[in-house]
Amino acid sequence: MFDTHAHLNLEPLGKEPPEEIVRRAKEQGVTKIINIGIDIASSQQSVALAAQIPEVYAAVGIHPQEAGSAYNDAQIFRELERLLGQKKVVALGEVGLDYYRNPVAPSVQKQVLEWQLRLALENDKPLIVHNRDADEDVYAILKYYKCAKVVFHCYGRDREFTRKLLDLGWLVSFTGNITFPKNRQGQDAVIYTPLDSIMIETDCPFMAPVPHRGQTNEPAFVRLVAEKIAELKGVDWEQVEQATDANARQFFAIGRD
Ligand SMILES: [Zn+2]
Ligand SMILES: [Zn+2]
Repeated sequence: MFDTHAHLNLEPLGKEPPEEIVRRAKEQGVTKIINIGIDIASSQQSVALAAQIPEVYAAVGIHPQEAGSAYNDAQIFRELERLLGQKKVVALGEVGLDYYRNPVAPSVQKQVLEWQLRLALENDKPLIVHNRDADEDVYAILKYYKCAKVVFHCYGRDREFTRKLLDLGWLVSFTGNITFPKNRQGQDAVIYTPLDSIMIETDCPFMAPVPHRGQTNEPAFVRLVAEKIAELKGVDWEQVEQATDANARQFFAIGRD
């Protein structure tokens, strides 16, 4: 299994030796982890983790909540471009728009997003998209730039929006919040989306699935996300494992060892 969205370097996970976290993940059958950047420092840490640990791959990017510090900053943009060219960097992310209690103005978020989209297209890298309360704006911008390889992470939007993403060949990635009993819309998105358009993630250290809800999340728990998808779809969990594994390998262009 892949955990396609982890933040091993964020607290409190960052306090632990990453080798230990990866060892526990492997015990649960999680053999590949994509570590995600949210700003320049965490993107640099992502690249360093990937160089240090065989199971870890890196994504680099500026999160919409961090967009204020990158706005019109040529130095930051140059550093991100350099990072994108490093070994084992398999995607640009996480990038997107976040209109939920985010002090960064939408115009600033959009500028930073569009700049990064151009970078991803020039370097032929897939995009890991963070979207909160910004469905229409994110969709319009990604479509305008004709982005082909896109995953919406921590997904849980309604069927109408899901249909629009699937029609463009984009993927969605589910996290531990699909195990929360009140998250009916997220569970319906699991039921509605075909297995060949789904990836799985933890978004650790956040979003720990039931029965670990409220605790520190870690890549080992992505197995619980796969099991919940199997339960909701009424299929064997091995089927979910195989499909999400194949989708992630193709999306991130990671071969078999
Ligand atoms: Zn996110
Ligand atoms: Zn994240």
